[in-house]
Amino acid sequence: MANPLPPKERTKISRQKMPEQEPEHRRQNFTEVNLGLNFHLATQEAMRCLECAHPKCIDGCPVGVKVKDFIALVLAGDYLAAAAKIREDNILPAVTGRVCPQEDQCEGTCIMNKKFGAVGIGYLERFVADYERESGQIGLPAIAPPTGKKVAIVGSGPAGLSAAGDLVQKGHQVHVFEALHEIGGVLVYGIPEFRLPKGIIRQQVDYMRAMGVEFETNVVVGRTVTIDELMEKEGYDAVFIGTGAGLPQFMGIPGEHLNGVYSANEFLTRINLMHAYEFPKYDEPMVDFRGKNVAVIGGGNTALDAIRSALRLGAGKAFILYRRSEAEMPARKEEVKHAQQEGIEFQVLAAPLEFLDDGKGWLAGARCQKMALGEPDASGRRRPVPIEGSEYEIPLAVAVIAIGTSANPIVQSTTPGLNTNKRNYIEADATTQRTSRKGVFAGGDIVTGSATVILAMGAGRRAAKSIHEYLTTPGTW
Ligand SMILES: Cc1cc2nc3c(=O)[nH]c(=O)nc-3n(C[C@H](O)[C@H](O)[C@H](O)COP(=O)(O)OP(=O)(O)OC[C@H]3O[C@@H](n4cnc5c(N)ncnc54)[C@H](O)[C@@H]3O)c2cc1C
Repeated sequence: MANPLPPKERTKISRQKMPEQEPEHRRQNFTEVNLGLNFHLATQEAMRCLECAHPKCIDGCPVGVKVKDFIALVLAGDYLAAAAKIREDNILPAVTGRVCPQEDQCEGTCIMNKKFGAVGIGYLERFVADYERESGQIGLPAIAPPTGKKVAIVGSGPAGLSAAGDLVQKGHQVHVFEALHEIGGVLVYGIPEFRLPKGIIRQQVDYMRAMGVEFETNVVVGRTVTIDELMEKEGYDAVFIGTGAGLPQFMGIPGEHLNGVYSANEFLTRINLMHAYEFPKYDEPMVDFRGKNVAVIGGGNTALDAIRSALRLGAGKAFILYRRSEAEMPARKEEVKHAQQEGIEFQVLAAPLEFLDDGKGWLAGARCQKMALGEPDASGRRRPVPIEGSEYEIPLAVAVIAIGTSANPIVQSTTPGLNTNKRNYIEADATTQRTSRKGVFAGGDIVTGSATVILAMGAGRRAAKSIHEYLTTPGTW
């Protein structure tokens, strides 16, 4: 159906609200918070699209999803075609529909945004992706005849998965090596079930297997096998490195070694990948903090995922310690709102100076200091400035450090001639994703530093395009 409303009438429809679990209920379970639009809400939301002649939303999407076209298909009721339209540019729509920071991307540039509220592009993306998944009718794309070329993908996060999906469609033999025992990178070990159910990733992996992608887990490239061995002994013609930025950063303050202090990566991996949230079915060792205080230090998505997980595991009081104000928090706005609704306390403009020992090597609390905001720093955000004499102590059973991560180092240290920058991220051309080593390409967080799912996917796609050209027109590379 074509949109029956003139543009002015469309602006009178309010943005539809995403149905969600009630905060009092969801703070006790790990099932998804957002419940998805129904057919009626999706049609109403699609009706709001002004079908701009030059849609800004497409420019706002790092992978250029054809937003206007897919929304028109939603309105026409052809949800499978809408999903297929998104898949032309984005192989993981059920993921990005849930976790993309749309407010800074497609919805941020939507013409409706300022006056009427952006069209819920993320909501609609999720709606059609879920429809397609639940219908069991995900159509396999056409696969080109075999080229006889072999490509190794190192790391199975969004960058690796996107590269693999594109390359297999071009007829190359694609083999993904993953260090962990499950495929998906941060999508499975970092982002919790209540934001991104793991079943979605598993189904996506099955879909890619059906396309012909081969997956191998428990292989640490650089230890089990090196890039040189893959290329010289195992006959791989090209390699894509998408190993992410999973190395935790610590604060370097006294007491960080105490039992009960975790990096966010370890804390979330124990919960998500080792199933600590399914106790007693899975008995993953964790400090028993039920009924006690848990603090997470940081203000990004990782920090919020960690503290909301702690709350669901029974923390008595769960709070965020963040050294700037809420306005500077890098987390998605929706996650901040959800966390606040669930009763997470935000102690902003505060940072720990020291973790306190109970005398037996276990965490007993933290000595913190209050901050004020000074001039903007290199990141453009206002710098936190310590307030003299404002120290205070808080009792804690668990503290989780979520102040950022850095490059996973193993591949760099075992691949001679692979250039890195001073922070040990791999240097790759921004357009081709080509590295200093012939036939080796890289993309995602291992090149940019911690960023977003969609940016990693975009890099994976650019690399796939270059690898295909490299394999099919070798003289030009
Ligand atoms: C807790 C958390 C929440 C987040 N929330 C959001 C969000 O809401 N929205 C958003 O857009 N972004 C979010 N991000 C960021 C986003 O997840 C990352 O930017 C994205 O996953 C990067 O993708 P990638 O493919 O480069 O790397 P990753 O997803 O990190 O995947 C890299 C993979 O490579 C594997 N690997 C590493 N070294 C080796 C090796 N030597 N051999 C074999 N395999 C190896 C790792 O085990 C991992 O599986 C979040 C990140 C975290 C940690």
